[in-house]
Amino acid sequence: MPGPGLVTRAGALLAVAEPAGAEELLTLVQRIAADGGDGSDLVRRVAELFPAGELSCAVAGPTADGDLAVLVCGHATAEVDGRHEQVRLTGPGPAARVVAGPVTAVQLRLPEAGAPHPLARLDAGVVGAAGLSVRFGAAPQPPDEAPKPFQAVLLVPGFAPPLAPAEPVADTEVLVEGVDCKNGHFNDPALRYCQRCGIAMHQLTLVSRLGPRPPLGVLLLDNGMTLRADADYVVGRDPGRDPDVAAGRARPLRIADSYGGISRRHLRVKLSGWTVRVVDLGSANGTYVQGPGADEAPRVPAGGAVEVRPGAKIIFGRRWLRYESHRNP
Ligand SMILES: [Zn+2]
Repeated sequence: MPGPGLVTRAGALLAVAEPAGAEELLTLVQRIAADGGDGSDLVRRVAELFPAGELSCAVAGPTADGDLAVLVCGHATAEVDGRHEQVRLTGPGPAARVVAGPVTAVQLRLPEAGAPHPLARLDAGVVGAAGLSVRFGAAPQPPDEAPKPFQAVLLVPGFAPPLAPAEPVADTEVLVEGVDCKNGHFNDPALRYCQRCGIAMHQLTLVSRLGPRPPLGVLLLDNGMTLRADADYVVGRDPGRDPDVAAGRARPLRIADSYGGISRRHLRVKLSGWTVRVVDLGSANGTYVQGPGADEAPRVPAGGAVEVRPGAKIIFGRRWLRYESHRNP
């Protein structure tokens, strides 16, 4: 886009800046490109360089996860078409965001930028211009995602297995309403601090949007096994019979029980929105939830759902699961 300014492309990193004071930014882009071109790194370093958005500039680059990190300062703007959303960032910033990929279009510009010439292109280097527009063509068709096999966990009394992270379930991504912290982490709107970076979230510019739900923490089993709280679990001696497990809507957590207190399908840990709940599936001996710091563990009504707060324990038979999360109660 013609106009007064400087545009650079170094590998997969893109930047636009007003000319006065741009030298430091251009050097930084070059250096990070030479280091592998991590977009998150670029965004973080530019935010450090211009903490009050002193230089009008916009930068973007891919993250290690295939998303796009983007930042604007001053009078620059950025528009990104991502997988779930169209994002527009404005200064004075620095305002940053990680947009879930694959990204199909990026536009970084200063206010004076004119319309891009259809034949203009920049493969690498620095040119005098006030903005850039990139289209990544047709988004690659996502491959037919065969449902990932779910992992059943067999617990043998007396045998403590090593910590095992849960299988990610990218194929059952759930969209929830949330807000972004200043560093672009997607959060529960009820939180006062970002659960990823801990930054306070009482900025005036928080706008809620629909985004993929991040894991809500972990479920810690009494033997030390951890399960990621990113999907529903059906817990019992024979959870594979649950129709939702068979249909891939919940993971089975098979728990051996030598005391006879656990039903075949005993309980379900259910994620709804940003909340973890437990549902008793009509178990013979009941499910109990002990709130964080509480002495008593009231019984979950059969068929009823009870919220499980971070730090709370779900007790069934002689076994228990505790919900752990960075989220502040
Ligand atoms: Zn954050």
